[in-house]
Amino acid sequence: MKKIAVAIDGPGGAGKSTISKAVAKKLGIIYVDTGALYRTVGYYARENGISVEGAKTAEKMTPLLDGINIEIKYVDGAQHVILNGEDLGDKIRQPDISMYASAVSSVPSVRAFLLEAQKELARKNSVIMDGRDIGTVILPEAEVKIFLTASSEARATRRYKELIAKGVEVKFEDVLSEMNERDHADSTRAAAPLKPADDAHYFDNSDYDFDGSVEYIIKLIEEKTGVKAIEE
Ligand code: C5P
Repeated sequence: MKKIAVAIDGPGGAGKSTISKAVAKKLGIIYVDTGALYRTVGYYARENGISVEGAKTAEKMTPLLDGINIEIKYVDGAQHVILNGEDLGDKIRQPDISMYASAVSSVPSVRAFLLEAQKELARKNSVIMDGRDIGTVILPEAEVKIFLTASSEARATRRYKELIAKGVEVKFEDVLSEMNERDHADSTRAAAPLKPADDAHYFDNSDYDFDGSVEYIIKLIEEKTGVKAIEE
């Protein structure tokens, strides 16, 4: 199969990761969750007693990067992020880590620190990579770029259900306001803000269910790359 790169960008809760995972499986390619890398750096900042406000500053974050070694591994197609030898698993999925991830991601030295690992994965493998700046900064040459979004209510509802299903106790209003806050911060930051690449395909999936979204994206990839799904 020829090597391909698919970039999926968009705000939180649009279903980027679950949809990309399913698409990767159907195409037999690797799914790269770049948010997990920012979450890992955010986790490390929290562990080191940095406040969320502090995690937005180069002053606090840049010196911390020297102590971070991140490895990305794939076990049965699932991505594992190893921080200084420890597989963090679901520890990076807690809601406060979302805020930390968003905070550290606004610091240019953090973005520079994570840049090469992301590019390297796409050099070595066929990938579907999701994040905020994949089509614009990380893989500007990707054959397929999708900006995946949905209304903030639809996205907050999905994220809320996801957290409840995982046993995390949250209130819908809190999920919605935190999501709006994160969207605003991600879209307005100076360093690699969330925005569609000029050549991205805009896909609002508010009215699509999970299977419909996966099908839509598979069709787009097949049309643009000629690669066919190996699994129905
Ligand atoms: O996608 P996820 O919600 O896991 O991302 C967590 C945070 O990491 C985002 O809110 C965003 O601030 C940051 N991020 C980023 N660039 C990426 C992926 C994630 O800035 N490519």
